[in-house]
Order: sequence, then structure tokens, then C-alpha cells
Amino acid sequence: MYKKLCSRCMCMSYSSSNLANWLCPHCANDLTEEKAKKVDHSINIPLMNRRLDQQMGINTYRQLSKKIR
Ligand SMILES: [Zn+2]
Repeated sequence: MYKKLCSRCMCMSYSSSNLANWLCPHCANDLTEEKAKKVDHSINIPLMNRRLDQQMGINTYRQLSKKIR
């Protein structure tokens, strides 16, 4: 697991390998030449899962509020 900090939008992105072309998921900036930092799974996977849960919660909330309107 690797992470890179986008120099354009300053968002962190994550990938399982740093060999392939690497585009920022937030602004599509090409991060292939940026230095990748290795990520310790035991620390970051639960954090990422929590963020994913939060995002899914937000999406569910948005869908619900659309139905109400
Ligand atoms: Zn970016």
C-alpha cells in the first residue's frame, strides 16, 4: 500500500502499487513522478474504511433528502 500527496490539490491518494500510472482521484493530476510513501496497513486500512463509511453515509443521506423533496 502506497500513498502520494497531490501537489495541486494537496489531497492524499492511496494505491496498492506505485508502478502503474498514478492519477489524483480528486483533481486527475498526474502523480506518477511524485514520491510514494509506503503505508502501514494496520494503521491506515481502518481509517480508510471509516472514511468510506462516512462517505456512504453522506450519499445515503443525500438520496434520502432527495426523496423527501
Ligand atoms: Zn489532486
